[in-house]
Amino acid sequence: MVKFFASSLTVLVLTLAAVQAQTTIDISKYPTINQIPPINSPEVQAWLKELGDLSGAPSIPLHKGEPPSCPNPPIPNECYWTCDGCAADDITACAAPNTWGLTFDDGPSTATPTLLNYLKTNKHSATFFLIGSNVIQYPDTVKREVTEGHHLASHTWSHHALTTLSNEQIVAEMKWTEKAVMEATGLRLKYMRPPYGDINNRVRYVLKKLGYIPVDWTGDAFDTNDWQMPTMAEAKVIATFTKSLDAYVASNKTKGFYCLEHDLNDLTVGVAQKLIPLGTARKINIASVAQCEGDAQPYQLGGTAPMPSVSGVTPSVTATSAGSVTPTGSSTVGTPTVAKPNNANVQSVGALSVAAAALAAAVIFA
Ligand SMILES: [Zn+2]
Repeated sequence: MVKFFASSLTVLVLTLAAVQAQTTIDISKYPTINQIPPINSPEVQAWLKELGDLSGAPSIPLHKGEPPSCPNPPIPNECYWTCDGCAADDITACAAPNTWGLTFDDGPSTATPTLLNYLKTNKHSATFFLIGSNVIQYPDTVKREVTEGHHLASHTWSHHALTTLSNEQIVAEMKWTEKAVMEATGLRLKYMRPPYGDINNRVRYVLKKLGYIPVDWTGDAFDTNDWQMPTMAEAKVIATFTKSLDAYVASNKTKGFYCLEHDLNDLTVGVAQKLIPLGTARKINIASVAQCEGDAQPYQLGGTAPMPSVSGVTPSVTATSAGSVTPTGSSTVGTPTVAKPNNANVQSVGALSVAAAALAAAVIFA
């Protein structure tokens, strides 16, 4: 009897350990959330050393403000997208014709699982531009995004305007986010979206050195302004975007578009579920950045997980097939392909339920 109780306790401890392994990122090993990481840490110093000389970066003064106001007069050869529309070789439109490049910025958040449920039901694949500070708080949500065929990309560590940061701070913002996503999924990010679309030639230089491809969006018409809710009424967001879709449908549609949306809160996730059907009703395909660009390797080499198959531009098919991807690290936890609760509270409830069940079994059989 005692022996059985002891073995039940062992099961309990092992089960708890497994649940713990499934969900934990040691946030004490990361910089303070939502703040620009210091550049004198051993990690950032090592990354800077590995990256080598940044002195080739264009010498453009740092902007001020969050987001910055446009310099007056404009700075020559800056190529500042938010102010002069200059995109250099940033991606600004989905390469596939008649296609909505579906992207969500600023997550993961507690609202993200609801969006993932919707995308799964409707077999849509999206790109999530992740904030590193949020990744370490909701690593299971990020794992779920990969498992369900979505594409991950970077939106920096702390969501500060990159033209206001030094070259070294940009490296810190990108590499800490890269590390967090690598720890959560084993994948090394390759695409990024600058917060506020704030990018110029100096920022581009540093991003390119880091191996990143910037993805802006297809101009003001495709900024849903969802983040302005509730100050902006949902009906207005929908009406404005409907006009943009109608104008697109009336165009030659030889290229697709990238649309700015956010998995920031229940309001933005709610309106996304009303906007996407407006596109599909107009026979517009839905695709992630990886699918839009036909990129079979949408992550940088050096990750620890196999490259997920998210290429191609037949989204409804690809989204399903990519759902079989198994992120590294999930093999020890059992249920990588099953939708599961994702925020920390739910996880600890789940752990407690497992503990309670094991304890109940021990008591009953003792
Ligand atoms: Zn953002």
